[in-house]
Amino acid sequence: MKDLNRRTILATGAVALAGAASRSSVAEAQAAPKPLFSVAPVTIPIAGEAEVFPVRRIYCIGRNYAAHAIERGSDPNREPPFFFQKPTDAIQYVAVGTVGDHVYPLLTKNYHHEVELVAALKSGGTHIPPEKALEHVYGYALGLDMTRRDLQNEMAALKKPWEIGKSFDHAAVIGPIHPASKTGHFTKGAISLAVNGKVRQDSDLSKMIWSVAEQISKLSEAFELKAGDIIYSGTPENVGPVVKGDVLLCKLDGLPDMSIKIT
Ligand code: MN
Repeated sequence: MKDLNRRTILATGAVALAGAASRSSVAEAQAAPKPLFSVAPVTIPIAGEAEVFPVRRIYCIGRNYAAHAIERGSDPNREPPFFFQKPTDAIQYVAVGTVGDHVYPLLTKNYHHEVELVAALKSGGTHIPPEKALEHVYGYALGLDMTRRDLQNEMAALKKPWEIGKSFDHAAVIGPIHPASKTGHFTKGAISLAVNGKVRQDSDLSKMIWSVAEQISKLSEAFELKAGDIIYSGTPENVGPVVKGDVLLCKLDGLPDMSIKIT
């Protein structure tokens, strides 16, 4: 009697499971499951275009100008490029001709500016050779890789991930994306940052250790790059702290200026 009951229960259970599976297959075929709530997509305006650029991932290269590599304590001649990511929703867009309010972030007491050229990809792949890499670039923007330097340094000293120093709300400041079809590709040109009218960072894109094309190639050895990925291409030397009330002005030859105020 016991065995019979068990078999009956098992058989009934199997029928119930089969029924549930077929019902859910039908439901899936009819409509995708509804999200529990909506999450805003992250996009960046494109200069002169009605469409916006959807952001998939934010990659950043570390220590890509020799003088900055030296000031951060590494040897620019021997160190291969290394990369980190910021969360996609760390984007803070700043329109041309405006001064964006940039909130001083939590936890830090040593908040640094890093002005950078940003490349935005329209396609991707793996193992992209450098000579083909720029074919994947849709356009370029001026950006700030804002950094909680004290937290980054503390974690680095402990040999722990320094994500907390780089990946936080509003840490990826960016201006509009300019299509490369209009601007050409950026391999040289002055890049600078002034705080309250005083120039702090002042260099040239030609001083990058790894060019944008080489960065794309190297990244694609580690990750499958895709349309919507953007790459912060590294900052020149003389990074430094900002405090509430400071106004930052970023300049890059060939693009409009970008400005924020720390609030
Ligand atoms: Mn940087």
